[in-house]
Amino acid sequence: MWRDGAACAACFTFDFDAEEVWIGEDPENARRPGVLSQGTYGAKVAVPAILGLLERRGVRATFFVPGRVAERHPGRVEQIVAAGHELALHGYTHRAVTSLDEAEEEEEMERGLAALHRFSPRVLGYRSPSWELTDHTLGLVASHGLTYSSNLMDDVRPYRHEGTGIVELPVHWMLDDAAHFWFDGAGWTNKIATNSEVREIWWGELEGIKAMGGAFTLTMHPQIIGRPSRLSLLDEILSFVTTQEDIWVATAAEITSAS
Ligand SMILES: [Zn+2]
Repeated sequence: MWRDGAACAACFTFDFDAEEVWIGEDPENARRPGVLSQGTYGAKVAVPAILGLLERRGVRATFFVPGRVAERHPGRVEQIVAAGHELALHGYTHRAVTSLDEAEEEEEMERGLAALHRFSPRVLGYRSPSWELTDHTLGLVASHGLTYSSNLMDDVRPYRHEGTGIVELPVHWMLDDAAHFWFDGAGWTNKIATNSEVREIWWGELEGIKAMGGAFTLTMHPQIIGRPSRLSLLDEILSFVTTQEDIWVATAAEITSAS
């Protein structure tokens, strides 16, 4: 199934949420510089650091970006595109589409796409904020010229949705840095995982997905995986997959177009 007879594919995806994830959680956060600074770190420090690691390992990744992040941090999005990475849609704001009606959901998609098209004419993928979908989402994805979705957890192999023909690149909480590392001031009982715990989970899933011939799709957030200690975990897995001859490392667009 995979290029050059590889046993599995590996895809590095970054949801570049910056401040928008905090504003999407609570609009009041727009007036709380302390809260927003958690997201600013992603744009200010983490994206350049991640781009450096990707370049050194020769890996092209997929960056899902909300339109408002592209407007707030245009220089960073230019750098992402200039380095040869894929730009994909992650809403306009970071509001869950389940809180919107169909017209609002379409407006989010159109404004988000318009913002990203200023940086790249080729935007093919859609990941919704928080992986939420509505009954309208896949139809809107198809009617706006997008070809794949990366939101659902019902498989480990990419598959085609009936009706729309949109290809799904499956995700899972186990392979999401936020599930292990997310922390905010409202959740003091939340324990922050160690790198070694996450390493055990990620390597175990990689071996299992390889045995099943699937696509190992990591979902990461610059503001989370880009903390100084965690960049070494990212570099470790980049180094590992790029030295395995039976793993095809590719962007989400490349993997879904081969599926
Ligand atoms: Zn997000």
